[in-house]
Amino acid sequence: MTSVLDRPQGRHSGAAPRRRLVVVGNGMAGARAVEEVLARGGADQFAITMFGDEPYGNYNRIMLSHVLSGEESDADIFLNALSWYRENSITLHAGVRVDRIDKFTKHVFSDDGRVTPYDTLIIATGSRSHMPPMDGLYTPGGSVKNGVFGFRTIDDTRRMVQHAQQEHHRRAVVIGGGLLGLEAAYGLKSHGIEVEVVHSGGHLMNAQMGPDGGAVLRRSVEALGIRVHTSSRTTAVLGTDRVSGVSLRDRDDIACDMVVVAAGIRPNVDVAVLSGLPVERAIVVDDRLMVQDEDEIYAVGECVQHRGEVYGLVAPLWEQAVVLANHVTGADTSAAYLGSRTATKLKVAGVDVASMGLHGPELDTDEHIVFSEPSRGVFKSIVVRDNKMVGATLLGDSRKVAYLTQAYDRGLPLPEERIALMFDVGGPGEDVGVAELDDGAQVCNCNGVSKKALVDAVKGGCTSVSGAMDATRAGKGCGSCKLLVRQVVEWAADGAVEEDPAASYYVPGIPLDKPSLMAAIQKLGLRSVSQVFTALAPGSAEDAKSKMGLASLLKMMLADRYIDERDARFINDRVHANIQRDGTFSVVPQMKGGVTSVQQLRRIADVAEKHKVPLIKLTGGQRIDLLGIPKEDLPQVWADLDMPSGYAYGKSFRTVKTCVGKDFCRYGTGDSTKLGIEIESRFQGIESPAKLKLAVSGCPRNCAESLVKDVGVVAVEGGRWELYVGGAAGAHIRKGDLLATVDDPEEVKLLTGRFMQYYREQANWLERTYAFVPRVGIEHLRAVIVEDSEGIAAQLDAAMQAAVDSYVDPWSERDDPLTPGQFRTSLPLTVLPQVPVR
Ligand SMILES: Cc1cc2nc3c(=O)[nH]c(=O)nc-3n(C[C@H](O)[C@H](O)[C@H](O)COP(=O)(O)OP(=O)(O)OC[C@H]3O[C@@H](n4cnc5c(N)ncnc54)[C@H](O)[C@@H]3O)c2cc1C
Ligand code: SF4
Repeated sequence: MTSVLDRPQGRHSGAAPRRRLVVVGNGMAGARAVEEVLARGGADQFAITMFGDEPYGNYNRIMLSHVLSGEESDADIFLNALSWYRENSITLHAGVRVDRIDKFTKHVFSDDGRVTPYDTLIIATGSRSHMPPMDGLYTPGGSVKNGVFGFRTIDDTRRMVQHAQQEHHRRAVVIGGGLLGLEAAYGLKSHGIEVEVVHSGGHLMNAQMGPDGGAVLRRSVEALGIRVHTSSRTTAVLGTDRVSGVSLRDRDDIACDMVVVAAGIRPNVDVAVLSGLPVERAIVVDDRLMVQDEDEIYAVGECVQHRGEVYGLVAPLWEQAVVLANHVTGADTSAAYLGSRTATKLKVAGVDVASMGLHGPELDTDEHIVFSEPSRGVFKSIVVRDNKMVGATLLGDSRKVAYLTQAYDRGLPLPEERIALMFDVGGPGEDVGVAELDDGAQVCNCNGVSKKALVDAVKGGCTSVSGAMDATRAGKGCGSCKLLVRQVVEWAADGAVEEDPAASYYVPGIPLDKPSLMAAIQKLGLRSVSQVFTALAPGSAEDAKSKMGLASLLKMMLADRYIDERDARFINDRVHANIQRDGTFSVVPQMKGGVTSVQQLRRIADVAEKHKVPLIKLTGGQRIDLLGIPKEDLPQVWADLDMPSGYAYGKSFRTVKTCVGKDFCRYGTGDSTKLGIEIESRFQGIESPAKLKLAVSGCPRNCAESLVKDVGVVAVEGGRWELYVGGAAGAHIRKGDLLATVDDPEEVKLLTGRFMQYYREQANWLERTYAFVPRVGIEHLRAVIVEDSEGIAAQLDAAMQAAVDSYVDPWSERDDPLTPGQFRTSLPLTVLPQVPVR
C-alpha cells in the first residue's frame, strides 16, 4: 500500500501556513459547505481537500429525475465542475473513498492508500438507497441481481436509462411510492416502459400527505398510465441471473425486466462508526454542526442527526451549511442551527406538490379546510390551530405556496375567511406578496436560494430574470419556483427588468438570433446539428431543447446537403406520425386537395379493418385519419396502405384544403381543386418554423375557409386570384392579410412559394404566420415578395426550388428503420375514453 502524506500547498508562501480543511463527501452538502466557507474568506484560512467516492464533480442530485426522464442531459446537472475546484485551489480526490478517520492523530485514510492530515474535518457522506430485505435481491456473489437498481447516483441513473432502452425490456416494477419512487416511475414511463409501483403505505407519498391527498395523487399518477398497488409489499425478486418479476405478499406475481428500489434511504455512517464517532440514526451533531463531544470535526447533510431529526431534503442542508461555515471560519461563532421546518415544494411525476407541517387535524379544536377536485388532480388541505397555520398540502395547484410557506414559517395571522388561504378571493391573505416575504425566505428549495440572494443578485447588476437565475441558480432545479423567482426579480428591479437577451435567441442553446445564426452556419459551412453545437454553443454543449429548431433551420438552408442525425428529431419526426394522448399514433395518408379515388378508399378501409383501427376520422384538412395505431405497427400500416404520408405531424407544410370549385359548383369562378392539388404536390413535406396549413377557394364565398389559413387563395372575378397570408382559426383567430391579387395559378404558386421561403428564413422558431405577418408587416411583405424591393426574389425562388427538389416521402424508410428503436413499442400514457360509435 502506498502512503502519501498530503501537505498544504503554498499558494500563500510567506504568510502564516493555512490550516488543513478536509471534507469527506463531495455531494450537495459537502460542496455547499465549502462554498459557504469560501464565501467567508476560507480560501485564505484553509488549504482545502475534498474526497468523493463518485468519480465526478458535484452535481444536483435532485435533477437525476429529469435525467432519467430524458428532459435533461447528465452533463447539464453539474453544480461545480472540475474547473471550479481548480479555480478555488481545492484538491479534489474524485472516485476515492475514505475508509477511516483517526481522530486522535487527525488523519483520514482513503482507499487509494492515501493518508491525509487535517486540522478541521467535515463529514458529508449523505445517504444511500435502502434495499429492504427480500429474497432473490442479491446474487450469490453478493451484488444486486442484474436488472435491480437503486436511484441515488448519476451512475444508477445512467444504468437505468441504458437498461430501459434495450429493445426487449418492457416492464418495470418500482418499489416505493414516495417522492423518489414516483419520479423513477415517471422517468421510466417516458422511455416507453410499462411501470407498476408497489407501495407499502396505504397511500402514495404518505410522508408528505394524508390519505385524501394521496388518493388524488394516485389518480393523477394512474392517468399517466402508471399502475399503483398500495398497502402491498414485495417479498422476492424473481429470476436466476437476471430479473424476471417480483413476488408480492398478498397479490399475484408481477412479471418485469427491471426493478427500481426506492424504498427509502439510509445515512452513510460506516466511516463514522468505524472511527468511533457518535452515531445513532445518523452522526450526532450539536447546534454548531460539530460532531458531539469532538473538536474540529463537523458533519452536514443527510448523514447528520440533529436534535433527533435526520433530514432527507436539500433545504435543511443549505441552512446547516451556513451555520457550519460561520463556525469553521470563525465568521460568526454565535451562529446556531436550531433545526428546519421542512416545507416540500416539488414537481413529482409532473404534478406540483407542496407539503408542510401537519397532513390533517390532530386536536378536536384544529380547523381543517379542504378543497378537492380529483378530475383536475387538484387537492388542497390546510390545518389551522389557534389562528396559526400548522400544516398544508397542495396538489396540482401551488400558486398560493409562497404565501402559505410564509404563514407556516412565521405564524402570520390568518384571514378570517379561510378560503382566502387557498384561492385569490380578496382579503388579507393576498396582501402577503413578494414585498412582505422575509429576506431569508427560501424561494428556490432545490438550490437553497433565499429572497435576499436574489435581491442581492439584482442589486449587483443582474436585472434580467435569466441573469439572476444564472447568478443564484434559483429556478434551476425542479422549476416549480420560476414564477416566484420572476416576481422577486421584478420587485427587486423595481420595474427596471431588462429584456432577457436569451429571448432573441433562435434556440435556447445557441446565443445568436436567427440572422446571425444563419450567417455563422453559412460562414463555417456547418451541415449537421452536432456541428452547430460544436462550433457555436457555449462550451460546445449540446442542448436537447434546441435540436429540433436547428434541424429544421439546417434543412431549410441546405436542402439535400443537410446531414440528418436522428437524435436531433423529436418523436413525431422520428416515426413520421402524430403521437396521441394515449401514446398511440395517427396515420394520415396523403389525399391532395381532399381528392381521393375508389381504390384509395378501399385500401384505407381494408387497412383499417386489418389493423383493427379504433377510430377513423375525417380531419379539418380534408383527409382521413386512422387513429390509435401502436408505434410498432406503423411500418406495416404504411406498407399496406402504399400511399404517401399526408404530413399531419411535423413543423412543416401540411395540407391544402380546397372547395369544390368551378367544375361542379354553380358559384365557382376558379378551379380551386386543381390549384390546391398543384400547390400540395409542389410543397409537400417542406420544413418551416411552425406548421403551415393552406386553402384554396373557388369564389369569395370561401367554402375552404381560405381567409383563416397561413396562406389562403380565393378565386375572384375575371379569372384572378387573391392571396391572403397570416390567417388562423385555431387557438388564435385572425383574418389573413391580402398579399396580392394575381392573374393566373402559376403566379399563385410562385408567390406562395416565395412567401413560404421568406417566412422560413425570417420567422422565429415555432412562430406561426399569424404572429410573423403582423410582426414584419404586410406592407413590408408585399414590397419584398411581390415588388422585389430587396432584390432577393430570385434567391427565394431558387431556395424554395431546391427544397422542393430534395423531397423524399418519409415513409420510404419504412422497411429500413434507421435505428433499432425507431418503431419499438410505445405503451399508452393515458387511457382514452371509448369513442362512441354512432
Ligand atoms: C433522484 C433524487 C431526487 C431528489 N429530489 C429532491 C427534491 O426534489 N427536493 C429535495 O429537497 N431533495 C431531493 N432529493 C434529496 C437530495 O438530493 C439530498 O437531500 C441531498 O443530495 C443530500 O445531500 P448530501 O450531500 O447530504 O448527500 P449526497 O448528495 O448523497 O452526497 C454525499 C456524497 O458523499 C459520498 N460519500 C459517501 N461516503 C463516502 C466516503 N466514505 N468517502 C468519500 N465519499 C463518500 C457519496 O458518494 C456522495 O457523493 C433527491 C434525491 C434523489 C436521489
Ligand atoms: S367557395 Fe365558391 S366555388 Fe368554392 S364551393 Fe364555395 S361557393 Fe363554390
